[in-house]
Amino acid sequence: MGDPKGFMKYLQEGPKRRPVDLRVLDWKEFYKPFSEEKLQNQGARCMDCGVPFCQSNQGCPVVNLIPEWNDLVHRGRWKDALKALHTTNNFPEFTGRLCPAPCESACVLGINSDPVSIRIIEWNIIDKGFDEGWVQPILPVSSSGKTVAVVGSGPAGLAAAQQLARAGHIVTVFEKADRIGGLLRYGIPDFKMEKWVIDRRLEQMKIEGVQFEPNVNVGVDLDAETLCRRFDAVCLTLGAEQPRELPIPGRELKGVHLAMDFLTQQNKRNVGDPILDEPITAKGKRVVIIGGGDTGSDCLGTAHRHGCVEVHQFELLPEPPPTRADSTPWPVWPMQLRTSHAHEEGCDRQWSVSTTKFSGHNGNVTKLHANPVNFENGKFTPISGTGLELEVDLVLLAMGFTGPVKHGLLDSLGVTYDARGNVAVDENFMTSRDGIFAAGDTKRGASLIVWAIAEGRKVASAVDAYLNAGNSLAASRS
Ligand SMILES: Cc1cc2nc3c(=O)[nH]c(=O)nc-3n(C[C@H](O)[C@H](O)[C@H](O)COP(=O)(O)OP(=O)(O)OC[C@H]3O[C@@H](n4cnc5c(N)ncnc54)[C@H](O)[C@@H]3O)c2cc1C
Ligand code: SF4
Repeated sequence: MGDPKGFMKYLQEGPKRRPVDLRVLDWKEFYKPFSEEKLQNQGARCMDCGVPFCQSNQGCPVVNLIPEWNDLVHRGRWKDALKALHTTNNFPEFTGRLCPAPCESACVLGINSDPVSIRIIEWNIIDKGFDEGWVQPILPVSSSGKTVAVVGSGPAGLAAAQQLARAGHIVTVFEKADRIGGLLRYGIPDFKMEKWVIDRRLEQMKIEGVQFEPNVNVGVDLDAETLCRRFDAVCLTLGAEQPRELPIPGRELKGVHLAMDFLTQQNKRNVGDPILDEPITAKGKRVVIIGGGDTGSDCLGTAHRHGCVEVHQFELLPEPPPTRADSTPWPVWPMQLRTSHAHEEGCDRQWSVSTTKFSGHNGNVTKLHANPVNFENGKFTPISGTGLELEVDLVLLAMGFTGPVKHGLLDSLGVTYDARGNVAVDENFMTSRDGIFAAGDTKRGASLIVWAIAEGRKVASAVDAYLNAGNSLAASRS
């Protein structure tokens, strides 16, 4: 700890967001730069406490060496900080921009003050590392000659692929979309993370030997058994792409869309790709977003940038308390109201609302019908006589995901599922089929980037151990 009084000398500070009226005019990231001197002071706020809860299982899932790099940043030893950061996290540029930072909710300083700005420090270490040319490919010492297929190129697949390539295996990443990156590429809007951030990391991975095969829907373009024959091990990192639906009257009307269709189209537009499906835009429209989570917030920011005339966000659950709920004491991830950068751009937020019907004219949605509800003992009960109606032109369904898509690849592989419908694995991340592993949202259900990276790293170690023990999918068949 470079400055034992740092937490008393410096208040918590972070980069400011660009003004709302300017940032909604473009798709660029919404934060302003933050000076190096201020970052060094923020690093000094870390108390290097005896038990760093930021690294505990309530804190950082990749177990980043947070007190170490806070101290190194405070001392201006950025290159050493980068080295420490990369020992636990393959992609701090993704988590530094996008992680909700459970580490900060578990920071000891946060008990009676503002926690250390861990995420911002992480982000700046890696961006400085790239700017200075310190992030270089790491080539394997020798090749094992063993082949691994990674199916799905989100953060879990990318972390697994990078670790396995560095361990000397021959890794191919298959991706059904036309570009690599999973939800980082086609879910998360540019104003949260511009896509060059993914591309510069992919360049490093290509030099390290990872082969990328986009436009291959495994289970359709390449059948499951051929995949198993061609590779010594298979790693399933397919995400949890099954959207939660809203099967109510009027769902089929034009203008009612799944959030991911809306977000994917915009990410494609931003790189100049043609939109082959019916274009979905919020321009000049009255918009309702159903679902109060991250995906809903991303739809909100996107709707503003399209130029919607008004936007509402409906959530079924009751409004959370403004500060940490008693049921989630420190260092647990707090249940509390979160107001995102997108909410700052404007939104009518309503809680405890259950949408019951859409009605329309000439096949287009024109009205949303809903009921306020009470939530008691795990049950929602409509409050009688209080139905509401809203004129609407575009409805975006952002109610989360129910798990991985089973029909197709997973069902044809015959892997078993856990009670929540995700792919079941043993303590070595192996599915019910020998040599076939799973990680990330496919295995844990819709989650976070940091968990995907953490599991990508763990599954890579398990695959490496399996191959080094002389196992292979081919051997398991004989
Ligand atoms: C809109 C949105 C915003 C989010 N924002 C955040 C955020 O700000 N911070 C955060 O921490 N988390 C966020 N998340 C969650 C986070 O993106 C996911 O938890 C994370 O991306 C999961 O990583 P993954 O690698 O398991 O799967 P994914 O990122 O979903 O990647 C899976 C990939 O597998 C591919 N695939 C599927 N089936 C096949 C097949 N048969 N053949 C070939 N390829 C296939 C898919 O096309 C996809 O590219 C967000 C999620 C959404 C939907
Ligand atoms: S990855 Fe997330 S939880 Fe871990 S240190 Fe970074 S911001 Fe915190």
